[in-house]
Amino acid sequence: MSIKREIKCPNCSQFTLWLGRDYDRCLHCAEFLQNQEFIKKLENDIVTKVKEENDIFYIRPNDSGFTKISKRFFRRLRKITMIVQALFIGFMTFILWILGMLAT
Ligand SMILES: [Zn+2]
Repeated sequence: MSIKREIKCPNCSQFTLWLGRDYDRCLHCAEFLQNQEFIKKLENDIVTKVKEENDIFYIRPNDSGFTKISKRFFRRLRKITMIVQALFIGFMTFILWILGMLAT
């Protein structure tokens, strides 16, 4: 899926071909056409990565074998806990709904 159109380059103000991709460059000055969006995207990627690295259970390459295994275990445990919680909330909602139906 590509959008093919002529747009004005934000850098040199000449019309150039844009294919709708983040990394398309101006034909005249080779400047990125989607500069702002491209930078924003990169920033988002970095923020996501930093968040992940700040996680207590983030597995670092220089962790020892045991640390790696326990971190992996806790990550899985946390995921399971979250799923169980979601199921529990769903179940409670269902029970309340049933009670509501019975009451009427
Ligand atoms: Zn240009």
